[in-house]
Amino acid sequence: MTVSTPNTTQPTNITSEQLFERSLKVAPGGVHSPVRAFKSVGGTPIFFKSADGARLTSVEGKSYIDFCQSFGPLILGHRDPEVAEVVHETVNLAWSFGACEPYSLELAEWITARIPWAERLRFVSSGTEAVMSALRVARAATGRNKILKFEGCYHGHVDSLLVKAGSGLAGEAASDSAGVSAAFAHETLVAPLDDDEGFMRVFEAHKHEIAAVIVEPLPANYGLLLQRREFLEGLRKVTAANGSLLIFDEVISGFRVALGGMAELLGIRPDLVTYGKVIGGGFPVGAYGGRRDLLELVAPLGPVYQAGTLSANPVGMRAGLATLKKVERDQVFAKLETRTAGFAERLLNGFKRTGVPLDVVRQGSVFWLHQKTDDGGVIRRLSQIPKEHGAQFKAFFHACSESGVYLAPSGYEVGFLGYAHTDNILDEAVEKIVAAAEKTHKTK
Ligand SMILES: *Cc1c(COP(=O)(O)O)cnc(C)c1O
Repeated sequence: MTVSTPNTTQPTNITSEQLFERSLKVAPGGVHSPVRAFKSVGGTPIFFKSADGARLTSVEGKSYIDFCQSFGPLILGHRDPEVAEVVHETVNLAWSFGACEPYSLELAEWITARIPWAERLRFVSSGTEAVMSALRVARAATGRNKILKFEGCYHGHVDSLLVKAGSGLAGEAASDSAGVSAAFAHETLVAPLDDDEGFMRVFEAHKHEIAAVIVEPLPANYGLLLQRREFLEGLRKVTAANGSLLIFDEVISGFRVALGGMAELLGIRPDLVTYGKVIGGGFPVGAYGGRRDLLELVAPLGPVYQAGTLSANPVGMRAGLATLKKVERDQVFAKLETRTAGFAERLLNGFKRTGVPLDVVRQGSVFWLHQKTDDGGVIRRLSQIPKEHGAQFKAFFHACSESGVYLAPSGYEVGFLGYAHTDNILDEAVEKIVAAAEKTHKTK
C-alpha cells in the first residue's frame, strides 16, 4: 500500500510570521497548548508543515533534527512506515464506532499481558483525562478526599492538581491557575520531591484524609528530576501502611523508558497507573489501569462514572499497538539506551572541550540539558535548578534552531530520542548543539 506524502503544494512564500499573525486572531496566544507559543524563549513560533523520522520541515522549507518528538509520543520517530501502513489501513475500515470493536481489545490484551500491575485498563483520550479518572477511582475506593502531589511533578491540567505549595508547613496547596477555586486546591497537598522527611511531615498531618499519593516516578515536566529509588520505595511503604493508594503517573515514562515504565525498572508496584503519549503512537490516547478491585469500581460495573465519545478510537488503538509491537520486536529500549548514552557522552565531551557549563542528565531516551549546578550535583528538586538556567536557555534554543536542531521551546522541557535518530543524525546534532552552546554559554 502506498503512503501518501503530506501536502507540500501550498505557496512556498508562506512564513511562520504570517501564520502566527493570523493565528493570534483566532486562538488565545495563537496556539492550542501554551508552550507552543515560544513565550519562554521569545520570538515567533516555527510552523511546521511535515515531518519524517527524526526530522521536521517548517513551512519555509527548512529542515530540523527534532528532539521534541511531539513531547514524547513518537518513540519510533515521525510517520514510522509500519505504523503509517496500519493507520492507513484502519482509516479504510472505520474512524470511530462509539460501539464495541476488536482493536481496543487487542491493545488492552497486549498491555495487560505484559504489565502485571495493570490488571484492568480503561482507555481515554489524553493523559489529563487518565489522571482525572484515576483520582476519582482513588477517592471512591478509599472514601477519602485528599490527594498528595509533589512540587516539580505535572499531571496534566486537572483542576485539583493545578496547585502549588501554600504558605503552611503541612502541605496545604494554593491554586496555581486562575479559574481553579480554593475548594479544589483544598483537596490537594503538596510535598517536596527527594525529601523523605518533608513528605512524612505532610503525610502525617493528614494521613486519615489521603486517598492517594500521586507521583511521576520519572519527573520529566520541570526538567528531568531523577529520584532516588529509596524515596519512591518510601512512598509505596507509607501509602500501603496507611490505607492510601499509590498512583504512578507514567504518561511520559510508560512505554518510553521500558514497556512497564519506571514501575518495571524500579520493581515498585503502584495501585493505579496512568499512561498517555507513547501508548497511542502519536494519536490522542490515554489510559488508566491498576488493581482489578479498583478498576471494577468504574461504570458500568461500579459506581464511579467515567465515559468518552471517542475513547478507544480505532486509529489510535491500532497505531499504539503497531508502535508497541515494533518497539518490542526490534528491542528498541535497549537500542535507544545505547544511542542516548553515546549521544549524552559526546555532548558532555563537547561541552567540556569548549568550556560550556552545561550538564546532560538522562533516563533511557529522555534527556535534559541544564546549566551546571555549582557543586556539579544531580538536580532532584525544582529548587535546585540554577536560577540562570531559564534565561540562558533562550539564546541557546535560538542558536540550535538556527543551525537546524529543534528543541522543545522551554528550558524546563526534556528532550526525546526516537528510533529514527540514527547515529549519523546524532553526530550531526552533537556538532550543531555544541557549536550553538559555544556561542551562547561560553564563559568568557
Ligand atoms: C503529558 C503529561 C500529562 C498530560 O497528558 P496530556 O495528554 O497532555 O493531557 C500528565 N502527566 C504527565 C506525567 C505528563 O507528562
